[in-house]
Amino acid sequence: MARIIPQPGILEIAPYVGGQSRIEGMAEVVKLSSNENPFGPSDKARAAFARTVHTLHRYPSTDHAELRAAIGEVHRVDPARVICGVGSDEIISFLCYAYAGPGTEVIHTEHGFSMYRISALGAGATPVEVPEKARVVDVDAILSACTDRTRLVFIANPGNPTGTMVPMHDIERLAASLPGQVLLVLDGAYAEYAEGFDGGARLVESRDNVVMTRTFSKLYGLGGLRIGWGYGPAPVIDVLNRIRGPFNLSQTQLETAEAAVRDTDYAERCRSENARLRAWMVEALNRLGVATDASFANFVLARFAGQAQAEACEAYLQTQGLIVRKVAGYKLPQALRITVGDEPSCRRVVHAIGQFLEGEE
Ligand code: PMP
Repeated sequence: MARIIPQPGILEIAPYVGGQSRIEGMAEVVKLSSNENPFGPSDKARAAFARTVHTLHRYPSTDHAELRAAIGEVHRVDPARVICGVGSDEIISFLCYAYAGPGTEVIHTEHGFSMYRISALGAGATPVEVPEKARVVDVDAILSACTDRTRLVFIANPGNPTGTMVPMHDIERLAASLPGQVLLVLDGAYAEYAEGFDGGARLVESRDNVVMTRTFSKLYGLGGLRIGWGYGPAPVIDVLNRIRGPFNLSQTQLETAEAAVRDTDYAERCRSENARLRAWMVEALNRLGVATDASFANFVLARFAGQAQAEACEAYLQTQGLIVRKVAGYKLPQALRITVGDEPSCRRVVHAIGQFLEGEE
């Protein structure tokens, strides 16, 4: 009788559940549940994707030099200290496998992205959840939670699903005050949506204990293709490259991402359209009496009177063909996370929420 059992911690992982994309019996839906770019990738990225059909029989680049160079130029970072992965999810898991493990602790925050906990448990480490203050990461609470077993601290800035930001001076103070064995990971999946924000790139350059992760899944509209990157001190990037599979990204991923990052006009159009519609949505929701925090990302966290109202609203939106995200799993049971879609989708979802609230009166 075989006794094949997984490593400790693995069965504590609740499998990740992605944003719903279908509604039973409905041919057409508006999906506002996964923070995708409603306009998709740029035409130049689509063309690059198509061109790579001629390279499918060849193994891809192992060092990702062209993509790293393009990221370096556009994001003004040193390409030698960039690592590319299968979504930023892969960079997050590399960090956990390389720096955490049995007997160590990985800090994430109360409403933090669920992959931090999943990857920490996958590496055999103990995830430690730290409270936030009114849905904003609390740097002092993180410092108090550090022990001599802490190895990694994960902060998404802007946060998901909150959309809030921790001021950079707080992050700088945190980086300067962490115990020596702790690596701070700044997850900038939504950094491009926060105007003028570098995701923490300059901080990475001034310290040896800070790493930044970024993605092509959001602003660049390539969630389906799975490309992310990390930027960190040379010794950290060297360590991560040792555990990276040599062919972790296909040539299709690499060339499409390169074209996407170089199309800065398109990225800027997506960014500014998101900012315009996000401001409109926040104002319209507030007028309906739905509370929001200032969002710096491509979604809005709508807070309802309570869990029952949030759930009833989500169910009503489904009857209207609108999919938004329940975030009870992120300890926000009274809230719904709504991706900023194109203008008709934003208008439809706000109108439907208004109808729902009227029907409740
Ligand atoms: N970090 C945060 C905060 C996210 O919201 C996401 C995507 N939901 C990711 C990382 C992972 O993104 P990807 O793997 O698509 O790059």
